Amino acid sequence: MKTKSASAWSASQSEDLYGFKRWGSNHFSVDSDGFVQVQPLADGRSIRVMDVVDESVGMGLKAPLVIRFQDKLRHRVMQLNEAFAKAIKEEGYKGAYRGVFPIKVNQLREVVDEVVAAGKDYNYGLEAGSKPELMIALAMHEGAQRLIICNGYKDDDYMRLALLGRKLGKKIIIVIEQLSEIDSVIRISRETGVKPLIGFRVKLQTRGEGKWSSSTGDNAKFGLNTAEILFAVEKLRAAKMQACLRLVHFHIGSQVPNIITIKAAVTEAARFYCQLAKMGFPMGYLDVGGGLGVDYDGSRTNFESSMNYTLGEYARDVISNVREICTAASVTMPDIVSESGRAVAAPHSMLVVEVFERINKRESLGKQHQPKSKHQIVTDLEVLLKNKAKLGRLERYHDALQKKEEAFSLFNLGYLDLENRAAAEQLFWQICEQIDKEGNKSGYQPEELHDLKRLLADQYVCNFSVFQSLLDSWALKQLFPVSPLHRLKEKPTVNAILVDITCDSDGKISSFIDLQDQKDYLTLHPLKKGQSYYLGIYLTGAYQDIMGDIHNLFGRVNEVHVFLEDDEPNGYYIEEALAGSRVADVIEGVQYQWEELCRRVKQQVDHATRKDLVKPREGVRLVEFYESQMLAKTYLNIVPHNGRKKK
Ligand SMILES: *Cc1c(COP(=O)(O)O)cnc(C)c1O
Repeated sequence: MKTKSASAWSASQSEDLYGFKRWGSNHFSVDSDGFVQVQPLADGRSIRVMDVVDESVGMGLKAPLVIRFQDKLRHRVMQLNEAFAKAIKEEGYKGAYRGVFPIKVNQLREVVDEVVAAGKDYNYGLEAGSKPELMIALAMHEGAQRLIICNGYKDDDYMRLALLGRKLGKKIIIVIEQLSEIDSVIRISRETGVKPLIGFRVKLQTRGEGKWSSSTGDNAKFGLNTAEILFAVEKLRAAKMQACLRLVHFHIGSQVPNIITIKAAVTEAARFYCQLAKMGFPMGYLDVGGGLGVDYDGSRTNFESSMNYTLGEYARDVISNVREICTAASVTMPDIVSESGRAVAAPHSMLVVEVFERINKRESLGKQHQPKSKHQIVTDLEVLLKNKAKLGRLERYHDALQKKEEAFSLFNLGYLDLENRAAAEQLFWQICEQIDKEGNKSGYQPEELHDLKRLLADQYVCNFSVFQSLLDSWALKQLFPVSPLHRLKEKPTVNAILVDITCDSDGKISSFIDLQDQKDYLTLHPLKKGQSYYLGIYLTGAYQDIMGDIHNLFGRVNEVHVFLEDDEPNGYYIEEALAGSRVADVIEGVQYQWEELCRRVKQQVDHATRKDLVKPREGVRLVEFYESQMLAKTYLNIVPHNGRKKK
């Protein structure tokens, strides 16, 4: 048993192992006591994440828990705007930056509130991609100089809402994404007597890299191709609405890993812009959409979960490319709009999950099941394990694989009993472990044995649902940084993957960030009896909470919103605490009434009582218990296990 080997490990080794310095961009580190700390403003003031977890637990908000660092969100809005301001200054650019926050990235009121407040001095606006989002934007937006950009499919009422915004004096721009929309905007403008501001979304030929590369090109869902732009132009002219055309828009997809794609797309769009300006339209804005990446793995590469550029470089490349093309074409430089959502929102929140069980293949197969009469195949495997013949690692691995397959065949044919099968499996894993250990020592592992680490990894069962809280990990195989939140001065010794509590075998995280490519396991600490073990999953502020579904009816997790506060003992305070879903909430979401369910169960208990299957007193208790669970949280109610015996 390893109890003393936790020595000779430091907080900085943990920082290195989990990559804090690489993906955390000065916001995450490990303190000298081995706890993860966050510096929301990267100004030296830090918050120990476990303090927030402990306080939340004290308030009845156990993990799974989303923590939002509101200052961090503010910080990102400022960084984005300052980066463009700096680029504009350095490049001698003649236009302004008028960014907008795409609401779809995180619609939560506190998020939008914070973004709007943080963007005040920068005239930072909002972007809506649907009618409900436009409803939010109209109400939350303030200031006559800040834009509202309207994207997505639009029906007549969507157009009317946008024109309502115009009446209120808002700079609200309707981006035409389909040719049919130009007809309806002209019609509704006539109907309401309001002149819209119009943009064209162009379908670029520039193709991105990464998971969202199909957002451009001929088959893209949105945007006008060249011929359609010319049609739309004629229609505007015919309706005497030339003066309404103000913006060219493109969006090449999210998380663009390669700056080359961005340069090319900006160049192509700037050409469209100049052509339209030269045709006599007033124009004024070039909207470069979203796509600004987040370096989830910290590798600074054009790998899908990374990006090979910085925010500063992005801003400079956008500004300088537009400047060059406008200058060459003698067109006045437009104000630049960008719709960066992921890059603004992702860093501000994290998910905390609690591990409550470790499943080890070899241990779970158990040593106790010694076969009464040992089959030859088991003896063969024992010989392999002892390895008196001094076979090499690969040869031993191949032999072990062969014997294991043989054992399964024998079992299927009825020649191997359960005890012998268990023993064979157990020996196989022991041999694999042995081979893997030897590989660690020698430093070189043949290609074929690389899989061993993955095969041997334990499962850490965590109280959360990937489908609710980390959908992109499941749907898109997107990587997120993960680490323990404490015990970081102890050497982690267990290679593990994370599995969730949904009854779906897909509900797991089995790919982790690595400098080279990705890793199939994460090295964690052994669980300690009676002690909670918490993991943080970082950079989850964009898309994750809102896209989650209620698979298995797990529903929303607890959530706290944290602000820096120098006067507080731990340097922060929890401004808002939102309790996660209760059983009754998710049940009502799928059309049951909880009172009705309680009534039905009570009827059945009454019936059972009459038949004497249940004693009356017990019956009352059962009904009360059922009713009380309606108000319970949906996730597991974990009590750290105290040397509890396994069956
Ligand atoms: C989703 C979306 C965005 C946001 O993209 P990010 O990559 O998150 O910055 C911006 N604009 C449009 C039109 C979108 O659909």
